[in-house]
Amino acid sequence: MRKQIVAGNWKMNKDYVDSEILVSKLLEQHHHSTTDVIIAPPFTNLLAAKNTLKGSPISVAAQNMHFAENGAYTGEVSASMLTSIGVKTVILGHSERRAYFNETDEMLAKKVDTALAHGIRIIFCFGEELADRKAKKENEVVASQIKNALFHLSASAWDHIVLAYEPVWAIGTGETASPEQAQDMHAFIRKTLADQYTPALADAVSILYGGSVKSANAKEIFSKPDVDGGLIGGAALDAEHFSAIVNSF
Ligand code: PEP
Repeated sequence: MRKQIVAGNWKMNKDYVDSEILVSKLLEQHHHSTTDVIIAPPFTNLLAAKNTLKGSPISVAAQNMHFAENGAYTGEVSASMLTSIGVKTVILGHSERRAYFNETDEMLAKKVDTALAHGIRIIFCFGEELADRKAKKENEVVASQIKNALFHLSASAWDHIVLAYEPVWAIGTGETASPEQAQDMHAFIRKTLADQYTPALADAVSILYGGSVKSANAKEIFSKPDVDGGLIGGAALDAEHFSAIVNSF
């Protein structure tokens, strides 16, 4: 049985005080559920969020991490810095990191290796741009992103990988992939994994959908057989909205 996951990517939003307010509201709103709930506040708020959430089923993830163990990388944060404050999940490969910070598949493969070496679970993001979809190249683009960053991994490493399909044209745009488009892509991703590894491995990996998921559309998207949850951006910044999405399974 695959894990159902709803993760909120706060991006560069919420200062320390606002973060603590949102975390407290999430705690009030959160009722027992079988869904794994994760929030990814900015680095400056991770430790406080972790402390506030102590004993709750909501866990905390970082939005990024460097591939080096330590050293002269001004402004960067390492895997051991994350684990030293108890953060055990990281989002890697978000399209904004790829677009604005020039993160390549090769760099992401290194980040993936470092995270795994530190026992950090990875929410690995990828997805095609609008031009790719218009050219009917979305499957080709997605397959190559997955292959280049992840296919060097052993089968056992996949226990620590969650995939997040995020078509770039649907992120922060209000434009959502239809539930059928999401399902088609998720089934393609699973087949790509089955071909490279085994059908059993492909069947065990959670694949999240991300791109303008709201409480109004989450239920329909999450009802698709190969969609195991969502990576939520804008709607994760409001406790009621995010909790409604969590409760959409
Ligand atoms: C995201 O950035 O991962 C995302 C899905 O954003 P939004 O929900 O705002 O489209």
